[in-house]
Amino acid sequence: MKWLDKIIALFSKRPPAMGDLPQKGMPLQVVASFAGSLAGTQPGEIACDEVDSLMDGFAEIMARGEDASRIMPLVRLHIDHCPECREELEALLAVIEAYQQDDHHAAKVG
Ligand SMILES: [Zn+2]
Repeated sequence: MKWLDKIIALFSKRPPAMGDLPQKGMPLQVVASFAGSLAGTQPGEIACDEVDSLMDGFAEIMARGEDASRIMPLVRLHIDHCPECREELEALLAVIEAYQQDDHHAAKVG
């Protein structure tokens, strides 16, 4: 029965659905793009919670006047595209700057 073979072939050739989990032996690129689609980011980008955990260090590097985007390019990339994380970074930088100004005052007074 040829039509039955055709139907079986159609079903076995269906493209992977969103619910399918990455299989062992899948090319790394496929797994990476799958992980990216789950997180709603492009391959190579990182998610908000990852940026959140790196934010303190990123802000400190910036406050020291070092090139944070060279040291943590993925964080920079995310912040460029994510207004929420950008706001958080700006708030953090403002706090660090305020502390640094306090230190200056303390040094001058003392
Ligand atoms: Zn974000």
